[in-house]
Amino acid sequence: MQGRIVFATGNAGKIKEIRMIMEDTGLEVVSMKDAGIKADIEENGKTYEENALIKARAVAAFTKDIVMADDSGLEIDYLNKEPGIYSARYMGHDTPYAIKNQKILDKLRDVPEEKRTARFVCAMALVLPDGTTRTTQATMEGRIGYEIKGENGFGYDPIFYLPELGKSSAEISPEQKNRISHRGKALRMMKDKIKEMCKDEA
Ligand code: IMP
Repeated sequence: MQGRIVFATGNAGKIKEIRMIMEDTGLEVVSMKDAGIKADIEENGKTYEENALIKARAVAAFTKDIVMADDSGLEIDYLNKEPGIYSARYMGHDTPYAIKNQKILDKLRDVPEEKRTARFVCAMALVLPDGTTRTTQATMEGRIGYEIKGENGFGYDPIFYLPELGKSSAEISPEQKNRISHRGKALRMMKDKIKEMCKDEA
């Protein structure tokens, strides 16, 4: 495959993860900034999928490249699946994650292990230059830990505990996270869809 994909995000952490996964496709992944696109997008969808499509379509209006966008969030069962689709905006967009993460730990202070279940969810949307769209969605299950741990990843990774690994998702390498993460899975599902579409065209 050749060409490039504009990924509709300003989040450098996400771009890094996505480039690693798409490396073997031959498609170059660039950020909106790299592509010179500035769009103020209102994420007013009610689901991850709707928001991913809103972002991808908004950016597609500015380019003839393939556009991809994701929308993701952390669902904490004890907090009725909050912050969910509001994860980036939780406690205000510009509030440092050290503060957001501490707040969540405080809210769950006396909550026992079995009630600390949580998951990251990611919906991925693709928009082709002719307007064709595709979406995928995947999750990574885990628990909310008891402390802020680890330096890798971003956002809520330092409080997201992976019981099978005995580590937070900020303590595993980017490669390992990509193998098991919501975003990694949704993106690999999308990669398969792109390959299918290329086959249909050939
Ligand atoms: P989005 O950019 O609108 O999709 O917002 C996603 C938000 O969910 C991020 O800003 C983080 O707060 C959270 N989030 C999603 N995926 C991850 C992850 O892999 N690690 C940590 N936080 C994440």
